[in-house]
Amino acid sequence: MQVIELSHVIGGEKVLGEATLAQYNPANAADLKVAIPAADQALVCHAVAAAKAAFLRFRDQGIEARSDALLRAQSLINARSDELAKLIARETGKTLGDAKGEVGRAARIFGFFAGEALRIVGERLESTRNGAMVEIEYAPLGVIGQITPWNFPIAIPAWKIAPALAYGNTVVWKPSELSSATAQALMDIIGEVGVLPGAVNMVLGGGETGAAICHHPEVNALSFTGSVATGKKVRMAAAERGVAVQTEMGGVNALLVLKDSDLNSAVETALNGAFLAAGQRCTATSRIIVEEAIADAFVARLSERVAEHKVGDPLAADTHIGPLASANQKALISRQTAAMEQHPGARLVFGGTAEALPECFFAPTLFDHANAADPIAQEEIFGPVAAVFRVADYDAGLAMVNDSRFGLSAGLCTGSLKYAEHFKRYARAGMLMINLPTAGIDYHVPFGGVGASSYGAREQGRAAKTFYTVTRTTYLKA
Ligand code: NAD
Repeated sequence: MQVIELSHVIGGEKVLGEATLAQYNPANAADLKVAIPAADQALVCHAVAAAKAAFLRFRDQGIEARSDALLRAQSLINARSDELAKLIARETGKTLGDAKGEVGRAARIFGFFAGEALRIVGERLESTRNGAMVEIEYAPLGVIGQITPWNFPIAIPAWKIAPALAYGNTVVWKPSELSSATAQALMDIIGEVGVLPGAVNMVLGGGETGAAICHHPEVNALSFTGSVATGKKVRMAAAERGVAVQTEMGGVNALLVLKDSDLNSAVETALNGAFLAAGQRCTATSRIIVEEAIADAFVARLSERVAEHKVGDPLAADTHIGPLASANQKALISRQTAAMEQHPGARLVFGGTAEALPECFFAPTLFDHANAADPIAQEEIFGPVAAVFRVADYDAGLAMVNDSRFGLSAGLCTGSLKYAEHFKRYARAGMLMINLPTAGIDYHVPFGGVGASSYGAREQGRAAKTFYTVTRTTYLKA
């Protein structure tokens, strides 16, 4: 077994600690152990102090230095694409193909924000007081606390760290304990491309380390991605201290399939959204809402197509679906699926808890005839588990799409412009997908949801400027 011993990175230096947490290759525990130290409050204070000390120097290096470093990060991530993807596959169970795609996306995010660093456009207006002018500057906030999950172990850190740096902030980052080796590989790259030491600091650990960042009095803003329960704690900590916060959380995303859609492409759209990446995407489809007239044909075709997908070793080229990320995740998904199996109403079509797979693997699972009272209608199941809800028509389908406290992504399969336009207007979600899977997003446009899915300013694209800057208004009279 390979053992990777990790360390924190503070002020550009590796800081050792006793490993108290561990992550194993979820496809083969005997292959890899990642040994992770957990930063205590004192170490978090040390990291925040390093970020604070670096802030003015980093800002004063200027936009070109920041932009150049971000561009170099893009190149180095691309140059290390194969080894990064392999590490992601072994650490989190993501298939090699998906991992390569994610690494490529992380590289592009650094490239995008390298450009944005050169485009921090301010405003200059005439004052209402004759002879005076007013300037609006978009200034950095200072030290940003960033807490990330494991399901996109390099892309999510990229879409937080790159904009924070582009707009002149410094960072204290805590990656997930399930993807800390990938985090260390990213920190190596950030160090090698010449980002000022202390501009990005990484403290490893679990919830206590994350909480210490959230409650630290000198962290000026908090950016979090993860579960609803943790997101609430992060927001509470931010509210107590009165600092800016954005929390990106889960979804119970719906795909509405109308009878006028192309059946085969609707099935592919549902299959991609529900089962690929083992359903471990916040934008994954868990509610597939189908017009009754085509529901039998849809479920039959979806069952055939899923059967053609191989669940197995994430490193094998012919694998479509890898394992869940950890034994804890498998236990949780098993409990949630068992609750669905016991609930009256919905019928199991394939998969389920009886199909026991080794290690952290979980069989793709589909329920049919689900209804609004079933647990999957309201609670996120972060695995390859979805349910078909049958509806009489578009109006009933739209009402069901909107019957959720979440609202991250919502999809519609249709051949009708009329329904597409109506859906765009009345579906309640931050991201709408017409004839596309609910999962799968671009990096140059805003990302985020409504309701319980998201809180605060949007991430990604040029929208990131809203969170990572604060306006300063200067009145000037010559
Ligand atoms: P999680 O909430 O368990 O953990 C997320 C991070 O928060 C981890 O780094 C964890 O160590 C840390 N943490 C735990 N307790 C904390 C506390 N009290 N204070 C501060 N930090 C704490 O989530 P997860 O299991 O890692 O990720 C899966 C969840 O993430 C799913 O719900 C998924 O939908 C969501 N997700 C959302 C998006 C999005 O952008 N909307 C993207 C990916 C994943």
